[in-house]
Amino acid sequence: DAHKETRGFQTEVKQILNLMIHSLYSNKEIFLRELISNASDAAEKLRFEALSNDALYEGDAELKIWIETNPDARTITVRDNGVGMSREEVIEHIGTIAKSGTQQFLKSLTGDSAKDNLLIGQFGVGFYSTFIVADKVTLRTRRAGLGADNGVCWESVGDGEYTIENITLPQRGTEITLHLRAEEDEFLQDYRLRSVIKKYSDHITLPIVMPKVTTNEETQEKLIEQEVINSATALWVRNKSDITEEQYNEFYKHVAHDFEAPLSCIHNKVEGTQEYTVLLFIPKRAPFDLWDRTNRRGVKLYVRRIFIMDDNEKLMPPYLRFVRGIIDSSDLPLNVSREILQHNKQIDTIRAGTVKKVLSALELMVKNEPEKYETFWQEFGKVLKEGVVDDHANRDRIAKLLRFSTTLDDNPKPSISFEDYVSRMKEGQNKIYYITAESFTAAKSSPHLEIFRKKGIEVLLLSDQIDEWLVTHLHEFEGKPLQSVTKGELDLGEMETEEEKQEVEKASTELKPFVERLKEVLGDKVKEVRLTYRLTNSPACLVADEYGMDSSLERLLKAAGQ
Ligand code: ADP
Ligand code: MG
Repeated sequence: DAHKETRGFQTEVKQILNLMIHSLYSNKEIFLRELISNASDAAEKLRFEALSNDALYEGDAELKIWIETNPDARTITVRDNGVGMSREEVIEHIGTIAKSGTQQFLKSLTGDSAKDNLLIGQFGVGFYSTFIVADKVTLRTRRAGLGADNGVCWESVGDGEYTIENITLPQRGTEITLHLRAEEDEFLQDYRLRSVIKKYSDHITLPIVMPKVTTNEETQEKLIEQEVINSATALWVRNKSDITEEQYNEFYKHVAHDFEAPLSCIHNKVEGTQEYTVLLFIPKRAPFDLWDRTNRRGVKLYVRRIFIMDDNEKLMPPYLRFVRGIIDSSDLPLNVSREILQHNKQIDTIRAGTVKKVLSALELMVKNEPEKYETFWQEFGKVLKEGVVDDHANRDRIAKLLRFSTTLDDNPKPSISFEDYVSRMKEGQNKIYYITAESFTAAKSSPHLEIFRKKGIEVLLLSDQIDEWLVTHLHEFEGKPLQSVTKGELDLGEMETEEEKQEVEKASTELKPFVERLKEVLGDKVKEVRLTYRLTNSPACLVADEYGMDSSLERLLKAAGQ
């Protein structure tokens, strides 16, 4: 029973397909990179599963990717002997987009193809990019370990529907055939395909082979040999000096499923109690699902070149979830199970070391490439702030990396560090003042700032949601306590002049009856009524208790239903 059926793509897939075909057309050759990338992922998956079940290799452990053209049929075929897919997996992975936030992503598209192009790149188009050059795609696949009669044939012309049918497939793995559109014959040319493979997929660790026809000089007999097109060695084991920027970039695009080159690259061999290599990247742009803390794709763990897992949380703390790349350990046992990795001292050491590497890279960027750091902060600053809350061990280092808007220039773009702030502190000022509010505008126009502006004392303007948590965890910077300008009694200490002090003294005696009257009228609604000299233009303002909750934290908790 072939059980052939026709099914519709998920609505989102249809929309994405449409957009992609139009906006990525100028970069159409990337379909090959995407197919090779998937084949390579499938091989890694098989290798990993085979660590605990050798039978999955079915006697064939030499994993490869084959690429062939058929000029008469006008097709290109990409085949792998990786893990393959079951019928359910095909339905789940091809024709559906499981990524959370897809709806939101689609709403964010503007219709301006240059902008959308970048967005779609971020989203990761993968398999669907085949429809840029093909008007029909046929996928045949069989899951490793399932018998030959568990083959599946999937076919679609990219118009919103596909057919799926059971077939017999002796070899495991996946074979994808593209029936080229009329105008795409260039991809039938051998040299064109080879150059695309070399350009985008040289870093792929598996051999990518293409048939090459040679003629025997003596007999004139034609021979077909399989020629390996790529270098087929792991990029990260090569010497830094032997790797071009382009090779790093293409490797990044493969591991990160990104279309754009990264902002920064960290390539390091670590020696000591643990020996491992890291090849990590910081993307140029935040992915659309940056706020999805359950997103696990990010950093992959290898043991001596064999892929083990990509459970990001074990390798990177959530506040560095934007980091992409690989860690290859020389010491971990190859047959580690995911369960063992959950509580593994060696992994913890590697993770701690890697976090330090990332922080050092950011520190270097601050020093040597401040413009890059600005881009970084714009994209990932809010995420890095979580580190102050989450990572006690590195809190001081992270604090130095933070950037703020302040009353110095009321610039909504945060660019001022604690160190900048401290270096400008007034004579006698011993605190770092800040205000939190729902928005930058609300922060900068708060009446609480009047006295500070008058006295020329800089105040940090905090308006990210996370800032509320930040200030409850970061009590000081290099011995200077952080102080909210909206909390408690304002003590500007030595910055007050004698004159000001006397004025307050005098006023408090004179106005005592008035204050008493206010207390009576307001009753339980307030804890206290106080005279203040923190205002210069406004007649009154609300102030939180020193140990009470900040007014915007109160709002935040209310919003969270607490
Ligand atoms: P991504 O690679 O980002 O997951 P793709 O659209 O490229 O997105 O692929 C979707 C899914 O289809 C993959 O995650 C994988 O589960 C499955 N897939 C695609 N190609 C293959 C293949 N050659 N072998 C096995 N599974 C594949
Ligand atoms: Mg892919």
